[in-house]
Amino acid sequence: MNEQVEELDPFKISQKQLYNASKLIGLDENIYKALSEPEKIITIKITMKMDNGEIKTFKGFRCQYNSARGPMKGGIRWHPDENESLVKALSAWMTWKCACVSIPLGGAKGGIICNPKELSENELQKLARNYIRKLSGDVGPNIDVPAPDVYTNPQIMAWMMDEYETIIGEHAPSVITGKPVELGGSEGRGVATAKGGNYCIREAAKDIGLDLKDAKVIIQGYGNAGSYAASLLHNEYGCRIIGISDSKGAVFNKEGIEPLKALEHKQKTSSVVGLDGTQQLTNEELLELECDVLIPAALENVITKKNAGSIKAKIVAELANGPTTPDADEILYKNGVIVIPDFLCNAGGVSVSYFEMVQGYYLHFWSEKEVFASLDKIMTKAYRDTVNKAKEYNTNNRMGAYIIAIERVVNAMKLRGWI
Ligand code: NAD
Repeated sequence: MNEQVEELDPFKISQKQLYNASKLIGLDENIYKALSEPEKIITIKITMKMDNGEIKTFKGFRCQYNSARGPMKGGIRWHPDENESLVKALSAWMTWKCACVSIPLGGAKGGIICNPKELSENELQKLARNYIRKLSGDVGPNIDVPAPDVYTNPQIMAWMMDEYETIIGEHAPSVITGKPVELGGSEGRGVATAKGGNYCIREAAKDIGLDLKDAKVIIQGYGNAGSYAASLLHNEYGCRIIGISDSKGAVFNKEGIEPLKALEHKQKTSSVVGLDGTQQLTNEELLELECDVLIPAALENVITKKNAGSIKAKIVAELANGPTTPDADEILYKNGVIVIPDFLCNAGGVSVSYFEMVQGYYLHFWSEKEVFASLDKIMTKAYRDTVNKAKEYNTNNRMGAYIIAIERVVNAMKLRGWI
């Protein structure tokens, strides 16, 4: 057997996707090179005294990928597996995401290698403030605007904003998004990623004549994005959530899982596993079950060439970043599975973050209804543009989304005289 080992390094995958899309549009090789590396990578070391007196050092990153279209934007992950390649990939995807949905921002991403589940509230606050102190010259409302991502939340954003404002000596709410509403956060930000993904699912379902009422949905990762997607799909479209999972395992009930009950169970026991009336499965088994919509909403590389052929969903809606490898993409496309690619599907979060920045500049705040109406417009247009571009180039939706994004970023770089 001469089986080639599949590339699973996230940054190399992002470069391969970019390369494939560049080939499709005949992009100049040197422009591809300019787009394939970040503008700046900052590595920091945070040393702090823990509650028990022990001294610990944490490594952190901020990667600023491309600023041609505006201030850079991207979340901060706190995770034991955080690494430089991942931060670079995520910052690239942020660049393509903002361009694809046409908001005037560039791309960035940050993270700290740590396990927040092992830290006290006091230690979390110290870590948040230290991170911003180290980066205070490199972030700002007109430079680079962080936000929450895996294992960070509005409270952590509030501490970071407070630290930044203390350093610069004035209010600057638009330095960070995903803040609590009481501190200038936007209405609807918490559910925005899921809401945006659901607008795309609604459009994809229309395209294939799938009635979402009672449609069978499986969600991998029952965190912020995944649990809100479950509730909204169930409450607004009448979908039947038949399977969900988290890092500890998966649960299944073909009659349907009540999303709120699952959330309460997870909050009580820290996992969806053991939920009443469900059968336990592994995360791998969950992905291969018969369903209409499959939503990866956890981490990268969960659909690979090993399992792509076994995916039975009609629509794969990628709320997670980087869940599907390029090899798997080809298999899904060949099998007629509609993939809503990550940087389109999960762009609801950054779109409402952008609304939060605008509201912060003006200190004038919108109602949730206004937020969702604007979000629907952005997501529906981006979905239609992507599908049309994919058709024009006879390619899959991911390449369609990449082509739109590349064209916009390259145009901005040209207008600035960079290339
Ligand atoms: P989160 O920390 O709230 O939730 C992550 C969930 O995934 C948790 O339930 C965790 O238990 C689960 N998980 C972790 N490892 C797993 C594994 N191996 N198998 C199955 N489940 C696992 O994070 P989130 O904010 O919901 O982000 C999830 C994904 O969505 C990430 O890829 C993130 O980058 C992406 N995303 C989130 C947002 C947002 O606004 N929250 C925006 C854009 C993209």
